[in-house]
Amino acid sequence: MMKKMMWLILMAALMAACQPVSQAAPSPTAGSAPINASPSNAAAPATKTIVVTYSVLGSIVKDLVGDRANVVVSMPNGQDPHEWEPSAKDIEVIMKADLIVQNGLGLEGGMEKTLQQAHDAGVKFFTASDHITVRHVGAGEGIPTGDPDQAVGAEDPHLWMDPVDMKSVVEALATQIKTDLGIDLSDRAKDLEGRLDALNQEISDKVKSLPDANRKLVTGHESMGYFAQQFGFKLVGAIIPSITSQAEVSASDLAALKKLIQDNQVKAIFTELGTPPAVAEAIGKETSVKVIELTTHSVPSDGSYFTFLRDLAQVIVDGLK
Ligand SMILES: [Zn+2]
Repeated sequence: MMKKMMWLILMAALMAACQPVSQAAPSPTAGSAPINASPSNAAAPATKTIVVTYSVLGSIVKDLVGDRANVVVSMPNGQDPHEWEPSAKDIEVIMKADLIVQNGLGLEGGMEKTLQQAHDAGVKFFTASDHITVRHVGAGEGIPTGDPDQAVGAEDPHLWMDPVDMKSVVEALATQIKTDLGIDLSDRAKDLEGRLDALNQEISDKVKSLPDANRKLVTGHESMGYFAQQFGFKLVGAIIPSITSQAEVSASDLAALKKLIQDNQVKAIFTELGTPPAVAEAIGKETSVKVIELTTHSVPSDGSYFTFLRDLAQVIVDGLK
């Protein structure tokens, strides 16, 4: 009886604790003015807004721009850039941008219609992939699938995996911001480029601790090409060609991947956002290779590109030892 009473009291307390949460948030009044409207007339110089499509590129743009302009990232961090689609509100922000910074090469698949609309309306654009040497998917990389993004010769959009490529992006973007927005970021660009060089060196040094034979990557999808190229890894294969076509991965594709993992004596399988965990686990089990989660398309909690790439390299080096 006593126990039952205690239980009831506990339940009542829990329910009471829960209730304010569901009742506290008043439903927003439709059509009300945004509370956080920026005091644009208060700032001394006219504040420009730069819209960046996704978080990893957004981090670098924020590092470059500092408080010299507003930097807005369209996709919420952690969403898959290959998939995400903007809301009406997001589209409004994009259409009003003073400059849009995009990755290009089809990364922003779900945003392309909106970006085209902005382009047609005369919004200024900077495309990161215009300023690097684009990598093409090579023969023998990954498993053959019907996905055009993964076909041999396809342009690889994952350019943020190479800090030296990001350096080229920074240099070109600073030049364009000066031309388009009249903001001189040359000192900040120089500083950021130096930090990217240092990051590149740091990762190169870290990778040196791995024997050549261990530098083999199996990932969720073909996202590590630029990293592999820059830091001397071999791309052995990918579990799925992309999130949208995961259902198309056939038993024979997976059998081929398992054989590649065994033949190459791969030390770890890296899964990413969108990799079906059950498939990865099954491959890991059947090949006796460990499965490790890798963050490839979003920034960590501190929002820093530098932490992102440093952590990524560390997980890879630790996983392949
Ligand atoms: Zn990707």
